Amino acid sequence: MPREANFRVCEGQLLGARQVPSPNYNQRPEQTEIQLLVVHNISLPPSQFGGGYIEQFFQNQLDWSVHPYFQTIEGMQVSAHLLILRSGEVLQFVNFNDRAWHAGRSSYLGKKECNDYSIGIELEGSDDLAFTADQYQALTEVTACLQEAYPKLQQHLAGHSDIAPGRKTDPGPFFDWALFRKQLHHFKNK
Ligand SMILES: [Zn+2]
Repeated sequence: MPREANFRVCEGQLLGARQVPSPNYNQRPEQTEIQLLVVHNISLPPSQFGGGYIEQFFQNQLDWSVHPYFQTIEGMQVSAHLLILRSGEVLQFVNFNDRAWHAGRSSYLGKKECNDYSIGIELEGSDDLAFTADQYQALTEVTACLQEAYPKLQQHLAGHSDIAPGRKTDPGPFFDWALFRKQLHHFKNK
């Protein structure tokens, strides 16, 4: 059954996503297969949405003087492959073939350094607010697309808190894994 394809992976790029290149990446170790999808949340300032600060942060262009919180993250160089805004718009910062800097110290099924072999997706959100229906829809479509391009992802979806327990709490209690998995199953089988 053909399904509407809003997204497609071509040479590590997600067609259908707005390309916002970040300098914060390096090479994955040689012969590394992409085998884990990590879901995060981020908002700048915390629990405030819009403003474009996340994009600026991932591009090392954030003006640290704009908000007191920004001073607490001053100089940090991080990124994720994708960011899904509250509207459901998808932005790509790092090519999937490259290693984005989203997971930090982390371990999945005994394998350390998740950045080496994972794709990181940030949802614009926080640990204390629900995500939008548009975000679940975009995450569902993007995940289905990525699972087709990188089959190992079919079995390996995790939250940042799962791979860095005690250190990270995102995507947080408001991220509805059951809903996400249900929508994903439904989308892939329609
Ligand atoms: Zn995170």
